[in-house]
Amino acid sequence: MNYLGIPLEKPKIASFGFTGCEGCQLQISNKEETLGDLLGAVEVRNFRLISSDKHNDYDIAFVEGSITTDNEIARLIAIRKNAKILVAMGSCACLGGVNNHRQRFTNSEAMNEVYGEFQVDTGPVRKVSDVVSVDIELPGCPISKPEFEWLVRHLILGIEPQFPQYQVCMECKQRLNTCVIDMGIICFGPVTRVGCNAICPRNHMGCWGCRGPAEEANYESLLRILREHGFSERQIAERAQFFNAFNAIEAMPVLADSI
Ligand code: SF4
Ligand code: SF4
Repeated sequence: MNYLGIPLEKPKIASFGFTGCEGCQLQISNKEETLGDLLGAVEVRNFRLISSDKHNDYDIAFVEGSITTDNEIARLIAIRKNAKILVAMGSCACLGGVNNHRQRFTNSEAMNEVYGEFQVDTGPVRKVSDVVSVDIELPGCPISKPEFEWLVRHLILGIEPQFPQYQVCMECKQRLNTCVIDMGIICFGPVTRVGCNAICPRNHMGCWGCRGPAEEANYESLLRILREHGFSERQIAERAQFFNAFNAIEAMPVLADSI
């Protein structure tokens, strides 16, 4: 490609799935109204849902899913070696995500209940940054399509993306939403990283924290408000641990029981 005599190169991209539902990659491949533009702006070298080509020369690797087996660790390390930029994509890759509930299974009986006689190769749940260095984290369950496209535009133009640091509450209030906490619905919007347009509170559901902790979140204040509104310690702990987003926050109540 050429513009005013200047050769323009399309970045070579790849996308890989690990332990997860492939929902984030599906968000990208399903977005038909802009998929043509995306495919025109980049060269897809390896992306199972879009192409049967499988090449190992790529500039940008998008990685979805948490890392749970030795085989996945080896695959991820190889991807990291190939990629100039590695983007962890989605809650499982950025936080461990819902897969982290597997850590609560302490005995093989519980696993057998689910998998029966089938052997399951599964180990501790790790987020991508527990195994390799990550350049950019694009959180969400699933990722926001507009935010993914915004990020790709930045990567193509070589501009460092600046993610907003404030909380979901800001976007919720900008849209004149009635606070769901006042309707008796628990919400973690005050401590969760913005970028989803507060889609859950706008649809009368509380935020589950799928985008992870916001910068400078005031946990003490959130806990005080939730307790004042009558939410139990168990309700708060379940919400905090659902995506493995707030497990490390000391003030948060924890689910005491394991399965
Ligand atoms: S509904 Fe949730 S995100 Fe919206 S203002 Fe209330 S606490 Fe914040
Ligand atoms: S409102 Fe919360 S749970 Fe819903 S998409 Fe946004 S960050 Fe995720």
